[in-house]
Order: sequence, then structure tokens, then C-alpha cells
Amino acid sequence: MAKRDYYEVLGVNKSASEDEIKKAYRKIAIKYHPDRNPGDKKAEEKFKEAAEAYDVLHDAQKKQQYDQFGFDAPGSGGFGGGFNGNMNMDDIFSMFGDIFGGHGGFSGFGGGRQSRPQQFRGSDLRLKVRLGLEEIANGVTKKFKVKKDITCSHCNGTGAETGSSSETCPTCHGSGYITHTTQSIFGMMQTQGVCPTCGGEGKVIKNKCHICGGSGVTKGEEVVEINIPAGVAEGMVVNVPNKGNAGKRNGMAGNIQVYIEEEENDTFVRDGQDLIYNLLLDFPTATLGGTVEIPTITGNKLKMKIDEGTQPGKTMRLKGKGLPAVRGYGNGIGDIIINISVYVPKFLNREEKETIEKMRDSDNFKGDSDTKRSIFQKFKNYFN
Ligand SMILES: [Zn+2]
Ligand SMILES: [Zn+2]
Repeated sequence: MAKRDYYEVLGVNKSASEDEIKKAYRKIAIKYHPDRNPGDKKAEEKFKEAAEAYDVLHDAQKKQQYDQFGFDAPGSGGFGGGFNGNMNMDDIFSMFGDIFGGHGGFSGFGGGRQSRPQQFRGSDLRLKVRLGLEEIANGVTKKFKVKKDITCSHCNGTGAETGSSSETCPTCHGSGYITHTTQSIFGMMQTQGVCPTCGGEGKVIKNKCHICGGSGVTKGEEVVEINIPAGVAEGMVVNVPNKGNAGKRNGMAGNIQVYIEEEENDTFVRDGQDLIYNLLLDFPTATLGGTVEIPTITGNKLKMKIDEGTQPGKTMRLKGKGLPAVRGYGNGIGDIIINISVYVPKFLNREEKETIEKMRDSDNFKGDSDTKRSIFQKFKNYFN
């Protein structure tokens, strides 16, 4: 089944506020909640689909990535990697429990949420990368030597010394939570809390690894290859899942967030997907017409015809010679926009002076009224 756009799934538009997204998700989640639609596979699919959409859209960073890259978050298997049908209902409930306003939200909700032992997720790392326009035009793979927490090789991340192992926590019997029962005027009250013995992990280590002290991670280095898609721009963030700090005791690894910086280019000025090129025409070519060479981002030069009587300020376009959109989102490939100026010689020798002098009185050299009007118009627009 083709994946539906997340905004379409929740029935909100791109400018929807966090609150509107939350409300829209809540409505759908209640309608298709499995407790209300027992055994209905379609309802379950809709429920999961909405949960995935909400997972992305309620998180500012994921939302930004999705807006830029769609389902193909760069360098990853895309969004929904954690879902794709692998995620069960309990996962969804534990992720979004708060949206229903706690356990009392609606019937069956509390019952559907299982207490599960905690896992330690590694933290995210941030990198900056400076790219030239040519790298941006083609996309590029960069290698980084990253200092980070890596899985302890002595204990394979378990945190337990060789020969010993972790045991089920005697206090909570592996659940990571303990339940207190107290007597109150309303009757018996049950509350849940994180197990103090194992800190919510469900396991305790008797004999801790002497290298990592039981955390399962050590300081280390890794060479990470990062694929930067073509078309990125200053300020964009490329997310590389699972390449950040290793999680303690074999918990999930964090991500690497790559911040894009753009080098200045000597030839082009970037305007979105377009590249602006300033062409300084010599006076005879502007007057008589001719052919000029225009540089491109690939290093090839393209020949372009200049009509006779070309005026300074004229713009021309080389279609499709600009920058691609990131992963095809946007408007295909941009253009090279050529902005024409005409060079007026600063010094002339005697012979040249005599030649030009002869033209001084020619009406052809005085500028016709159309040209005067169009220059006036440009001048006016400039100040508006
Ligand atoms: Zn260790
Ligand atoms: Zn415990």
C-alpha cells in the first residue's frame, strides 16, 4: 500500500499548529482505537498510520525533516523505520500515552499500556559540514572521524564482567516498575513508580565490567560515512540515524545531526535552486552581437548567443543548469540566470578615440525612447 502523506493522514494542513495536530491525531486515535474496533484490521491500520504521522509531525525537528525531504529522511531508511508494522500497540501507547491526558483519557487505555523495562538511548551528536556549490549540485559522501560513546568490547555492551551475567531484578522481577498499594478514603489506590533497585532496567549486574564500570559503553572513535543529498542549503539538517552515541547496556544508539554550511562561490550567487551569473559583455559584442561562453557548476562551459543591440540589465536563462531539489521535493532543477552588464572602456588609444568620436553625433548612439522608458521603469521598481 502506498504511504499517505502525513498531513493528509491527520487531515491538517502544513501550517497547522502543534495544538491542531494534537487534536486531529486524538480524534482519529479515539475513532480507530482497537478497544472500540475489536478485531477490525482496517481500524488498526488507520490507528497505526495516524500514530506514525503524529510521531513525526508533533516533533519540531522530525517535522522539519519531513517537510524538506518527505519520507526519505537523508541517510536513513526514512521515517517510519520504527513503525512499518513492526511496532505493536503497546509501543504506540507508551509513546503517546500523554496525549490522552493520562490513564483516565478513555476506557481501556490504561489497561493497554504495559509497564516495560526502560532502555537507555544514546545521545545525539552534532556535526557541521561546509560544502561547495559543486558538492551541493551533485550530492556528496563525507567521512568523519567521530569521537563518541561506543559499545564496550570487553562485555559486549552488557556491562557485566566476563563470566558473570545480569540477573532479573529481585525487587521488580524484571518489569522495571514497582506498584505501591495504599489505603485511602476512596478505597485501595495503586500507584506505579520506577524500581529503585535497577533504576527501571529490570535487570541488575552483580559483577560489573571492569572496563566500562557496568555502563556497557566506553569512549571511542568511529569513522562514519555520511551521504549528503544533492540540493541541500545552508541551515538544513541531515539526520543520520543510529550513528550517534551508543546506548548504555546495548540500548539504542542516538543519531548524528549534520548541519549544512555553504561556502561562498566565486562565480555564482545562489538563489534557491537558481544560480545567478553576472556576465560582463564587451562593448562590440553587446553592439554587434556574437557568442559568449557561460560557466556551469559542472565545469563545462556553454555557448550562448548574444543578439545585436543587447542592453545592460538584460537577463537570460539557461534552463535546468541550476541546482536540483533535495530528493526531488520542489521544482525539478533550477536555472542559471545571466545578468548582463556592458563594459565601457576606461582608456582608448588615439585611433579608437577617433573611431568613437565619429559616432558621437549619430542618433543611433543616443538611446531610443523605448530604452529610456524601460531603464526608468527598472529604476522605479528598484525603489519599490
Ligand atoms: Zn564493559
Ligand atoms: Zn527492578
